Amino acid sequence: MRIFDPHIHMTSRTTDDYQAMYDAGVRALVEPSFWLGQPRTSPASFIDYFDALLGWEPFRAAQYGIAHHCTLALNPKEANDPRCTPVLDALPRYLVKDSVVAVGEIGYDSMTPAEDTALAAQLQLAADHGLPALVHTPHRDKLAGLQRTIDVIRESHLAPERVVLDHLNETTVKDAVDSGCWAGFSIYPDTKMDEDRMVAVLRTYGTEKILVNSAADWGKSDPLKTRGVGDAMLAAGFSDDDVDQVLWRNPVAFYGQSGRLRLDLTTPDPLHEGNSILRGGE
Ligand SMILES: [Zn+2]
Repeated sequence: MRIFDPHIHMTSRTTDDYQAMYDAGVRALVEPSFWLGQPRTSPASFIDYFDALLGWEPFRAAQYGIAHHCTLALNPKEANDPRCTPVLDALPRYLVKDSVVAVGEIGYDSMTPAEDTALAAQLQLAADHGLPALVHTPHRDKLAGLQRTIDVIRESHLAPERVVLDHLNETTVKDAVDSGCWAGFSIYPDTKMDEDRMVAVLRTYGTEKILVNSAADWGKSDPLKTRGVGDAMLAAGFSDDDVDQVLWRNPVAFYGQSGRLRLDLTTPDPLHEGNSILRGGE
C-alpha cells in the first residue's frame, strides 16, 4: 500500500515516526504551516519556520525515503495578531519556492474580521501564484464556519477544484462536496474522524476528490492513521485500487495542480532552498 499523507506536521514528530510511517507505506507527505502553540511575536518567527519547512524537514524526510512538500501561509489563529500579520507581505517571495505546493493552512478560527481579511488575501495569493489552497474548517461552529468559508471561496478568483476543505466530518461533508471543492478528513485518536466513520463517508460519497490525512502534530495524534484507513477500507470490502485512489492518486492529483510535486526520491536534494543549518554546519 503506497500512502501520501496530505496534511501532517512533521516538525513536531520524531525520527521514529518517520521510520514507522515508511514501514506503513508512506512515501510522500505535505506539511502545512500552522500555529505552533506558543504565539509568535514577530514575522521573523514565521520566516525561520518557513525556511525549516523548505530545508531542514525535507532533509529529515528524505533520510527515511519520504518525499516532503509544504504549504505556507499565515494561519487563521495568528491572523488576529497584529504582530504576525505583516508576514503576508513576505509570503509572495516564499510561494515561488519549488516545494511549496499550496497556500495553507488558511481558513477561519473564530470568524473575526481580521480572519476575513487574511483568508481573502491568501486565496488571492494562491490564485496569483497558480497554487491550490488548503483551507481548514473551524473546530467550533463547524457548519456555520464551513458555509461562510465556501461563500468566501466563491467570491475569490480560485476555482473550487483548486481548494481542499479540511477537517470535515459527517455534519459538514455534504456542503463541502456540493461546493465543488475537494473534501479533506483528519483521522484522530479521540476527536475529529476515526477510521470506521471515514469508511462510512467513503461508502456514501465515493472515493473521488476525497483526501484522508493524519494531521498529526504535537497534540494527541497518530501519523499512522492514514494506513489505518487503508486497512479499514480493505476490511470493509473496498478494493486495492480504491485504497490507492484515496491514499495516493487523490493527493497526487490535488497537489499536482501546483505543477511542483516531486515524487522521485532517487535524486534527493536536501540542500535546496538554502538550508543555512546544513550549509553552516557541514
Ligand atoms: Zn494542521
